[in-house]
Amino acid sequence: MAWWGVALFMLKLGSRRQLDFDLRDLSTQVLANLNRLAGTSQETLPVDGTLDHFLGHLGSEPLAGLRTQLIRRLIRMKALDDARLQGHFVVAVDGSGWMRFRTRHCDRCLTQNHGDTIVYLHLILEAKLVGPEGTALSIGTEFVENAKGSDAAALPDTQEAKQDCELMALERLAPVLKTQFPQLPLCLSSDSLYACGRALRVARNNGWRFVFTFKEGRLPKVWEEFERLRDLSPENTLGITLPNGTLQVYRWVNAMSYEDSDHQLHMFNALECLETAQGLTTRFAWLTDFPLSPTTVAAVATKGGRARSRIENEGFNVQKNSLFDLEHPYSMDLEKQKAYYLLLQIAHIILQMLEKGSLLRRLARKTGKSTVDLFGSLKNIARRLLEAFRYARLPDEAYDSVVAASVQIRLDSC
Ligand SMILES: [Zn+2]
Repeated sequence: MAWWGVALFMLKLGSRRQLDFDLRDLSTQVLANLNRLAGTSQETLPVDGTLDHFLGHLGSEPLAGLRTQLIRRLIRMKALDDARLQGHFVVAVDGSGWMRFRTRHCDRCLTQNHGDTIVYLHLILEAKLVGPEGTALSIGTEFVENAKGSDAAALPDTQEAKQDCELMALERLAPVLKTQFPQLPLCLSSDSLYACGRALRVARNNGWRFVFTFKEGRLPKVWEEFERLRDLSPENTLGITLPNGTLQVYRWVNAMSYEDSDHQLHMFNALECLETAQGLTTRFAWLTDFPLSPTTVAAVATKGGRARSRIENEGFNVQKNSLFDLEHPYSMDLEKQKAYYLLLQIAHIILQMLEKGSLLRRLARKTGKSTVDLFGSLKNIARRLLEAFRYARLPDEAYDSVVAASVQIRLDSC
């Protein structure tokens, strides 16, 4: 049943009923392939509603555990090593909209006022491991929602201040991530919302490094101090011209301090990059606990700071604006909907390995084509997978553990 659910997203079927139309066909190889993948000997295929019923019993947690196993395996086979920053795996953390309703959907909905109308919504906080070749792999999820049966549900829908939020969700996500990956050297990469005492504490308490976007408006006094110290240390400057002619000028200040609203002192370094391309200059800035020097600034900015955008582009945008259809309520039951969310994340990890991994590149090389030429576009991969799943029986060699051990997925350019 878990494979049936993964197939819904991996084959980009778009809706639950499409499982019936595309896969529930005993004249195809679907049942044989499914049995082979799952190691089962079922004689029938699931009917409409079976998956939904199964997820109601299963819940989302075992699926989060399955995702953890996938990520651990990729880490062990060193498939993600090329994207490490000074040995640290960069984890982009960001929140995003998930579901929106005009009427109250459940007692855990967040509410937002828009003039005269109230919108009921659910948000998610995602942690995505930033891998090589533009990959962004889900490693942790926390649902931003009001507590079950809490006063929040009974509150008038206008009291937004008492609601759950991204930073509170981060404080719940962190211990889960730490338990699942206790030894993994991590670096959090987030936008300027996280440049605050709460997120800095989360990083420090878990022994994680951080690269957070630094904005004047978020920490005005720290920004002022940065500008003053930066101008006093002109030696902390590095200019780089990229192959495409873009000019980057890095300037930095080490050992800055900041006292948060709870009177806790935080130490960090600040880095600025002025980038000039085609006559246009853009300023980027980050706060980090990586020591800054001419040998580290470019990597901290690129692999740590800018990698953050991956969670939006490769993560949320792809999952919302494709047949993954992240915002679609696959079930009106919140707990089931969370399970669908996790199935989507698992399917996306597998698809990214397929689309961006070395196996497809090797196949393309064999046929003398580029990976894009091989399928017309990468979007066609899911369609071809569906055809293969329906009409081709997966060969026994594909399940030989000895053979499989020698097939290493790589994401670098070799
Ligand atoms: Zn709700």
